[in-house]
Amino acid sequence: MTIESLPTFTKPARQRWESIPANIRQRLLSNVWCGQCRHETTITNFSGAIKGGDLLLVGKCAECHSDVARVIESS
Ligand SMILES: [Zn+2]
Repeated sequence: MTIESLPTFTKPARQRWESIPANIRQRLLSNVWCGQCRHETTITNFSGAIKGGDLLLVGKCAECHSDVARVIESS
């Protein structure tokens, strides 16, 4: 799944996401904590929305497919 094809992002979430440099985005996607695996994992099939002013990514763990989420605070 490429970062460039994100149909499930809301418009403001997409704009926020695209304002982040690609190498940072890749890092954010690949160190998401999974409570099932008990270690950092990669988030897949994620969607994005703005929640409380922060960008919220919600998706699935690449390893066990349980739900994982990541909040990216606006700096
Ligand atoms: Zn997992």
